[in-house]
Amino acid sequence: MYFRFSMENILVTGGSGLVGSHLKRFLPNASYISSRDFDLTREKDVERLFETKWERVIHLAGRVGGILENIRRPGEFIEENLLMNTLLLKYARLSGVPRLTAVLSTCIYPDVRERYPMTEADVNQGPPQETNFAYAISKIAMAAQIDAYNKQYSTRYNYLIPSNLYGEHDRVDFEKSHFLTALLGKILKAEKEGANSVKLLGSGKPLRQFLHADDLCRVIRDCVSKDVTDSFNVAPDENLSIREIAGIAVAVCTGDRLAIEFDRDSPDGQFRKDVSNERMKKTLGEFEFTPLREGIARVYAHYRETDVI
Ligand code: NAP
Repeated sequence: MYFRFSMENILVTGGSGLVGSHLKRFLPNASYISSRDFDLTREKDVERLFETKWERVIHLAGRVGGILENIRRPGEFIEENLLMNTLLLKYARLSGVPRLTAVLSTCIYPDVRERYPMTEADVNQGPPQETNFAYAISKIAMAAQIDAYNKQYSTRYNYLIPSNLYGEHDRVDFEKSHFLTALLGKILKAEKEGANSVKLLGSGKPLRQFLHADDLCRVIRDCVSKDVTDSFNVAPDENLSIREIAGIAVAVCTGDRLAIEFDRDSPDGQFRKDVSNERMKKTLGEFEFTPLREGIARVYAHYRETDVI
């Protein structure tokens, strides 16, 4: 028998973001906030937020961006994320929140390991990749703060480590978006303009595990309903090169009408960071991930219907 929290008394930070927007379908009665409601980098706002007694916090808020944003603004990424994570955890604990789930990212893993897929034991076994080093360090610090609280104060807080995300509710911005969102936006633009090709950053060789935001939200919902307090990776088995993913997207969205070009002078980011989902499946049981082809078709149809660009 699992302990069940009331779904009404759950706070979700980052409610206006990609994951937060998807989560509303899975936890419809939770309270969703964005930076407009509470700026989590400001201590006064965080203090005010915890004047309410929350039974569980799902912490999604973060300064998040694609490779170009991470390279251009590492100072903003580390400062804002360290501030919001530290303050949120501090006030959650002080106000006696019994359960908290934070969301990290597989970019916390070492740049290079001998064996793949990496497991949770590989965290802190080497420095993260340089293009997202500052962002990754802020996430590693949050994991350390959660582990330290659990040791010293016997809290039962946990974190999920998802791979690269995509979904219907991501914001399409060619400068700031993550790879797959930017790619689908570029395909839509090329289709509208009658262009023959799309140009992508890097060599196309790096490998990525793309996770549909709904899959992460199903895991979060299961953590709530089953009162899971373990920490683990959330990533599908599919680990494909950027070139393969772009090929699938062009085939699914345009019937192979567009050519794919690569701007080899731009950065690639980490070559591979594939992680194992074994601990997740041991904790939650069997789990069907959305196949990439199906997820891309759904997201592209949504982008076209809602005219995102
Ligand atoms: P997102 O779409 O960029 O949304 C970020 C959210 O954080 C927004 O709701 C934003 O509010 C909020 N936020 C930013 N700064 C804030 C501040 N100072 N105070 C309060 N709220 C603030 O992010 P996401 O893609 O949903 O990511 C959710 C979580 O998953 C993040 O922790 C991220 O690190 C992690 N993650 C993301 C990916 C990915 O590929 N997207 C992969 C792995 C892990 P406003 O709308 O008001 O700015």
